[in-house]
Amino acid sequence: MSGCLFCKIIAGEVPATTVYENDDVLAFRDINPQAEVHVLVVPKPHHQDAKDLTATPDLLAAVIDAGAEVAKIEGIHDSGYRFVFNTGDDACRTVFHAHLHVLGGEQLSTFGH
Ligand code: 5GP
Ligand code: ZN
Repeated sequence: MSGCLFCKIIAGEVPATTVYENDDVLAFRDINPQAEVHVLVVPKPHHQDAKDLTATPDLLAAVIDAGAEVAKIEGIHDSGYRFVFNTGDDACRTVFHAHLHVLGGEQLSTFGH
């Protein structure tokens, strides 16, 4: 979608550090990492919101599978990691192309602490 930052990254028009890619998804490092490992997994087709991906369950599964693949590549598959989908204003959503955050590589804080 024109004007969408993550569509531009997928198209190679905006640079990003790719961690993993297949026909369905691109995974790249977050520009402002919130953990030692912070990778974003995005479906290549533009969908605004993670919850929209329920309409394309195979694509949703591809995003989750790619998140687990990223964890293997980054060496955090056994130590543990966090998957986050932000949705809506209360979650401080900033980019309106569905994306999965993969966070790990250190002891993450407990929710609510
Ligand atoms: P959200 O808050 O929408 O769930 O997450 C958007 C994420 O995209 C943020 O963690 C932010 O740091 C990241 N981000 C924003 N602009 C860029 C960019 O140009 N390149 C990369 N690699 N990440 C970005
Ligand atoms: Zn997009």
